Amino acid sequence: MAYDRDIIVFGGGVAGLFTAARLRRAGYDVILVEKDALGGTQTLASQGMIHGGQKYTLAGKATGAAAAAAAMPERWEACFAGTGELDLSAVKTLSGRQVMFPAGSFFANLFSRLTVFAAAKAVNGKTRKLERDAFPVVLKRDPVYEMQECVLDVKSLVAALAGNLEGRIFKGEATALSSGGRVTIGGKPFSAKTVIFAAGAGNETALKLLGADARRAQRRPLRQIMVRPMRQALYGHGITGEPKPRVTVTSHPDGTGNYIWYLGGNVAERGAKMTEDEALAFVKNEMRDIFPDIDWNDKQWASHAVDRAEAFSDGTQLAAGPQIQRYGSVLVAWPTKLTFAPLLADLVLAHVEENGRAPTPAAPPPDLPAVVIGAYPWEDATWRRL
Ligand SMILES: Cc1cc2nc3c(=O)[nH]c(=O)nc-3n(C[C@H](O)[C@H](O)[C@H](O)COP(=O)(O)OP(=O)(O)OC[C@H]3O[C@@H](n4cnc5c(N)ncnc54)[C@H](O)[C@@H]3O)c2cc1C
Repeated sequence: MAYDRDIIVFGGGVAGLFTAARLRRAGYDVILVEKDALGGTQTLASQGMIHGGQKYTLAGKATGAAAAAAAMPERWEACFAGTGELDLSAVKTLSGRQVMFPAGSFFANLFSRLTVFAAAKAVNGKTRKLERDAFPVVLKRDPVYEMQECVLDVKSLVAALAGNLEGRIFKGEATALSSGGRVTIGGKPFSAKTVIFAAGAGNETALKLLGADARRAQRRPLRQIMVRPMRQALYGHGITGEPKPRVTVTSHPDGTGNYIWYLGGNVAERGAKMTEDEALAFVKNEMRDIFPDIDWNDKQWASHAVDRAEAFSDGTQLAAGPQIQRYGSVLVAWPTKLTFAPLLADLVLAHVEENGRAPTPAAPPPDLPAVVIGAYPWEDATWRRL
């Protein structure tokens, strides 16, 4: 069979972009095909936090995900310094640190202190307890732990990754796909030695086109909440003694010197089971309880519903790391977290090399349209007062 390409990657979120950029750097003739906009569905909706594992130890024990995440901050930092596996020196960070802070009532707070301490100790020694004068301004209660884990301006990550793939990113969608590596894009036939679907929820389409069981993928819904204008920035996890943060806060400049707080964690998981009205009212109450010194009545609120798209694990839980399913020449891939994109690229490269697929010279660009970077959820949100 004459192949058009060594590799065709579907999906322009962090998984597809990172993997394609690594394959390109290894010399493969790779193109990336995105159906809507780069940054896609989950990546630009994410909180952009590079996790080092502490978040996954809140139940008091180190999990598989914690172990997998422990090495990730250093690996990403090397890319940002221009010395890693990819040159991501153009990426901007919103914060170089994240904090864990108590977010419970008086009794729950006792547990949260113990949990925060256990989590901090379990993963690595780079976590430190802050003195009061080093607390983020909005935090008043002990203990606050600082983790040397950055929070990314995700659009700059998407742009930097795309920069590693110049002339190789196109707009399109697969309408037919065979496990032999034949694929129809925009009505045109293509073939590749390896086809990679890293298309988030769109991986379900690949499973369907391949005639595989769509139940090999799972979605876990979230309703992220946005609130503005916030005078101070905060990047961190509010802990109560539960295995998941009560709230995870990231802060995004709103262009007027203030911030939009983007709220995830348990509030977003619980909010996903509510209507938008119910979720906003619920989260406003949560925020009043966690940050009683802030006036929440003069704020505007919005929400963004989005699914986490993953390989099936047990239907509810997060897999311990990136996942790949193989169907002949087609790989269906999920990073599980933005943080794990480099690990996913390792798995894909190992698979391609294991199959003795040597890089070939680049073919001319295909006749497919160009694609642009998408928007953050807060850029097209509908805001309202509560
Ligand atoms: C609200 C939220 C917050 C999160 N916060 C964090 C965090 O702080 N830190 C962290 O590490 N992880 C976080 N995650 C997880 C992380 O965002 C995801 O694991 C990661 O972004 C998934 O990347 P992806 O490229 O697989 O998917 P996506 O970003 O969803 O990208 C998939 C792309 O594929 C495209 N596509 C779909 N179907 C097709 C098709 N048929 N053909 C071509 N293209 C197609 C889509 O348009 C999209 O652009 C968060 C997730 C959510 C939902």
